[in-house]
Amino acid sequence: MSEKVTRKTFDEVMFSCYKPMDFVIDHAHGCKVVDTQGREYLDLTSGIAVNVLGHTPKKVVKIASRQCEELMHCSNIFTNKQTLTLASKLVSQTDFDRVFFVNSGAEANEAALKLARRVAFNQAGEDKNEIIAFNNSFHGRTFFSVSVGGQHKYSDGFGPKPAAITHIAFNDLSAFKKTISDKTCAVILEPVQGEGGIIPVDEKFLKEVRALCTKHHAMLIFDEVQTGVGRTGYFYAYQKLGIVPDALTTAKGLGSGLPIGALLAKEEFAKHFTAGTHGSTFGGNPVCCAIGSYIVDKVSDPDFLAKVRAKGAYLAEQLQKLGRQYQCFVQVRGEGLLLGAVLSKKYAGQSGRLQQCCCRQGLLTLVAGSDVLRLAPPLNIKRKELDRALVLLEQALIDFVREQD
Ligand SMILES: *Cc1c(COP(=O)(O)O)cnc(C)c1O
Repeated sequence: MSEKVTRKTFDEVMFSCYKPMDFVIDHAHGCKVVDTQGREYLDLTSGIAVNVLGHTPKKVVKIASRQCEELMHCSNIFTNKQTLTLASKLVSQTDFDRVFFVNSGAEANEAALKLARRVAFNQAGEDKNEIIAFNNSFHGRTFFSVSVGGQHKYSDGFGPKPAAITHIAFNDLSAFKKTISDKTCAVILEPVQGEGGIIPVDEKFLKEVRALCTKHHAMLIFDEVQTGVGRTGYFYAYQKLGIVPDALTTAKGLGSGLPIGALLAKEEFAKHFTAGTHGSTFGGNPVCCAIGSYIVDKVSDPDFLAKVRAKGAYLAEQLQKLGRQYQCFVQVRGEGLLLGAVLSKKYAGQSGRLQQCCCRQGLLTLVAGSDVLRLAPPLNIKRKELDRALVLLEQALIDFVREQD
């Protein structure tokens, strides 16, 4: 059976919950993506902050294919070298003691939230079960993680939601003080809200959150699914912020394109997941872990991270310049190579249209809500490629502004 597929095939046989761009990707290397018509695109999306070393990096391909020949899967009834190696590396790169592997960001958050409830249940009983999360946050699409996420449009309409979840405004200390209590078992936040619009956490707010979580014995969870693995110019974003959460979730970039996620936690919390309390068939897959180990080594290198910060600063500065020149951005925000350009009032709600204009120029970009153009290029993107991307973006902005007038 060799059927010819086109973009139209998507509309015929796929669920409609995605609306992909009107071309079909054929292959990709580094920052270059090629569609089935042979058209080339420069990629500033990294598969939504996943391909940290660009597409199909040679070394990663080699590691994956060698590992496929040795051991592709073995279940968690056994353990294997690759899983243990990656776990050891994650522990030594962070302030956490233990690792639980899953296959995605949502599953990592699912595990973190279940752990928080279990810790509280064991220590204080059934009544300590409240979770505090923030408006516009995004934590994935399992029913628990999506209900904890702060965008109701994603969680409404699926029947009764998991209970005892409160959403408050991000960075609002007085709202937080009013909400946290001894009944709070977990607080979850993104150091930079990604899907919610590239909104960094306020550092003063965060210090208070840390102190109050400690006071009320609530587990502080950082969702670093998007900000982690070098994205912000630090291996994990918390490492810049100077406070340590009790648990951290990571996924996206960790597998360089293969699916892997992990929950990291301090021993005093992790110990509550005793044998049989949680599990995952594929979690800790040796192929994904072999790649993960390489990624951790490569991305945690201080020189590599310094370059991410330098390229991020350069890209932000150039975006600001373009924003002023075309009067289309009011602000450029974010950390490292996770940047959001906020559209000016005149173009409010039109990030999707700008993304289309970019696409027509051969530039792949992301949005974060309808007012923010989001860029998350491969972390090893070259300065020359960034400059090329900026030329394409300028062309796109010329179209974008002209079409509107
Ligand atoms: C993408 C993302 C998730 C969900 O990850 P999946 O792998 O799609 O389940 C969770 N949290 C944050 C902050 C994300 O950016």
